[in-house]
Amino acid sequence: MSKFSVLFGVLLLLPVALFSQEYIERGYSTIQAVDARAIVEILASDSLQGRKAGEEGGLMAAEYITAMLGEWGVEPLGDQGFLQPFTIGGCAMNNILAVIPGKSKEYVVVGAHYDHVGIDTTIVGDNCFNGADDNASGVSAVLQIARAVKKMRKTPERGIIFAFWDGEEKGLLGSKYFVENCAFLSDVSAYMNFDMIGRGPVDKPKHLTYFYTASYPAFGDWLKEDMSVRAFSFIPDYRAWEKPTDGSDNAYFAKNGIPIVWYHTEGHPDYHRPSDTADKIDYEKMIDITRAAFLCAWRLANEKY
Ligand SMILES: [Zn+2]
Repeated sequence: MSKFSVLFGVLLLLPVALFSQEYIERGYSTIQAVDARAIVEILASDSLQGRKAGEEGGLMAAEYITAMLGEWGVEPLGDQGFLQPFTIGGCAMNNILAVIPGKSKEYVVVGAHYDHVGIDTTIVGDNCFNGADDNASGVSAVLQIARAVKKMRKTPERGIIFAFWDGEEKGLLGSKYFVENCAFLSDVSAYMNFDMIGRGPVDKPKHLTYFYTASYPAFGDWLKEDMSVRAFSFIPDYRAWEKPTDGSDNAYFAKNGIPIVWYHTEGHPDYHRPSDTADKIDYEKMIDITRAAFLCAWRLANEKY
């Protein structure tokens, strides 16, 4: 092939490539650190009292999340609104479920728990467990991905369900309830989870543990591909996992044979302490993880794997 024909071919393909990417960039550009900070600061403020499942602070967090989804025009999954109420052990709790419908009857679920552990009145002094990293950070990611997909104005192949789980800290109760009561579970193609994406180990501040179901190597390849073209500030540790059936809300999806990806930036000295506060989050890192996850969510919703 002559140099001319190669050049001609490239010029011919270029507009196609740009056109096909345009809606992705439109969504991608809405994911911003300033919004991540605002979301985390609200969810992790003392006024939300540690967002304990079944208590006032948890309900206030649910109100805030549903208000954001409503403002952005993201639809509720159920006929009765965003809330999926459930009671276990006398505790009334609420999952929050939203959807961007797809062309097929299949779905992918993008989720994070929004509850935390509340207030410990036996502690003298600061006794509010703010849960900024655990897991206001993950809620911010799911909210921003929902808004980004909405802003794309492009119908995905598979519908995307945006899930905010309650009762995770009491034993993965919300995601378990959803999986056990989902009438279309066989049409759920994949689950994406976020649990703590805003910090990192003291000696590896930019570390990201990227868990994914080992029999789906494409999930690892996609991130490697995106890492090569985007200047992400996090450093991924690719962790193909044969049976990702514990740790967080991925568990019950994985137990039902649904492939998962899970973004997690590991523990730190403020884990499950009143000192897990919004000012300690690395928002640049967190927003890059959210952007990478947005690209992955779009692939989960549109590609074969
Ligand atoms: Zn958590």
